[in-house]
Amino acid sequence: MPDYRQLREQMVAKQIVRRGITDPALLAAMRTVPRERFVGEAVKAQAYDDRPLPIGAGQTISQPYIVAAMIEGIGIGNGGIGAGDRVLEVGAGSGYAAAILGRIAGQVFAIERHASLAGQARRRMRELGYANVDIREGDGTLGLAGEAPFDAILVSACGPDVPSALKTQLAVGGRLVMPVGGEVQRLCRITRLDDDHYEVDWGEAVTFVPLIGKQGWLGI
Ligand code: SAM
Repeated sequence: MPDYRQLREQMVAKQIVRRGITDPALLAAMRTVPRERFVGEAVKAQAYDDRPLPIGAGQTISQPYIVAAMIEGIGIGNGGIGAGDRVLEVGAGSGYAAAILGRIAGQVFAIERHASLAGQARRRMRELGYANVDIREGDGTLGLAGEAPFDAILVSACGPDVPSALKTQLAVGGRLVMPVGGEVQRLCRITRLDDDHYEVDWGEAVTFVPLIGKQGWLGI
């Protein structure tokens, strides 16, 4: 069997730190969460490769660096997310990004539209003892109004625009990061300044699966 602990250390050093990610809490989480437990047997040996991998239902677990870059984008420590914060992820997929968030934030909710993936992710959280990560099945473009407001929201699939439901479920001062676009996708960061105002920043070009839902790509 491969030495997954060593592969995980190498992944953090070569793919994450070398590309400029420095936050200690994020690096510690990436050194801890066993990515090999979030993929199927057929691709386990590639779990620490520098790329996305198939997870079933035509979906993927994102490249480790992209997970790290998006989480760094929502901010950690010093005004960013920490142990007292509530975070929402839309597009839970395997549950890997939600598990990383769960090592940093106090409470994580993650929504997945495919029942089979949501079920597997929920089972993984139970088996790994990640009790502060709550996996829900449904259309994440509508957010989770009953659990809002969120200090941060991560959207792990690409939509035509930032869903208004998610903007309104951000706490004042909260940040949302998601890929936005069609053929060309870019990371978009929204910061809620007050009840009615949001600051928008654009980041790097990315490639994500589509965000499908009432406030995403409806019915594609
Ligand atoms: N973060 C995931 C991980 O760590 O494995 C990878 C996410 S994958 C790139 C994107 C996921 O978003 C897919 O599993 C897809 O089914 C899901 N998705 C797409 N539209 C969605 C929606 N409206 N609500 C919830 N999940 C959605």
